[in-house]
Amino acid sequence: MKLRQLEMTLERLEGYAAPNPRLEQYQTPAPLAARLLFHAWSRGDIAGKTVIDLGCGTGVLSIGAALLGAAEVTGVDTDPVALRVAKRNADALEVAIRLIPGDVADPSLIEELSGCDTVVMNPPFGAQKAHADRPFIDAALLLAPVSYGIFNAGTRSFLTAYIHGRGVIDEVVSGAIPIKKMFSFHTRDVQEIPVEIMVLRRTS
Ligand code: SAH
Repeated sequence: MKLRQLEMTLERLEGYAAPNPRLEQYQTPAPLAARLLFHAWSRGDIAGKTVIDLGCGTGVLSIGAALLGAAEVTGVDTDPVALRVAKRNADALEVAIRLIPGDVADPSLIEELSGCDTVVMNPPFGAQKAHADRPFIDAALLLAPVSYGIFNAGTRSFLTAYIHGRGVIDEVVSGAIPIKKMFSFHTRDVQEIPVEIMVLRRTS
C-alpha cells in the first residue's frame, strides 16, 4: 500500500463521538498517522512484526499498522467507547486487530504484553494532566526495543533526559497537527500544533 492510499483509507475512519479532554482524546490526523507508520515500515519495524499501539483510541495507528502488513497488532486504551469505535473501524476495513481495555500504567498489563517488536503511540501530551505522557514512555521502553511516538515539538531534550539509562532518541521527524476548535479552552478556530515523531530505542 502506498503512502497516499494509506492516508486516504485512514481519513475515512470514524473518530471520537465525544472526545474527553481529560484523556486528551485527539485522533491523529490521517497524514500524520500515515507518515509515522510509513517511517516505521521503511525502517523494517512494521511488516511481519508484532506491534502494540498504546492509547489506541479509535484505532488509526493500529489499523494502519495492520494495513502495512504487521503480523499482529494490539491496541490498548482505557476508554471502552473509543475501543468500540476502533473495533467498528477495523471491521469496516476487514483488518484483524486485538483491542484490550486497560491503563498503560498498569504493571500487570505491561508484563502480559511485553516482548513485542514495535510500539506506536500518540500519547497525551500532558497538557491537561501533567506528565500524562510518562506512563506511555515507560511502558513503551518496557514493551519493545523500538517505539515510534508523536510528541510536542521542542520536548526532545526533556525526553532524552527522562529516558536516560533506558533508551535514546534515534531519530526525529517533524510534523503538525491542525486542531479545530473542539474544547472551550481553545481560543482560535484552527490551530496548528507543531509535533515531532520521535523514535525511541531501548538501550538496556
Ligand atoms: N492513538 C489514537 C488516540 C490518541 S489520543 C490516535 O492516534 O488517534 C490518546 C488516547 O490515549 C486516548 O484514546 C485516551 O483515551 C488514551 N489514554 C489516555 N490515558 C491513558 C492511559 N493511562 N492508559 C491507556 N490509554 C490512555
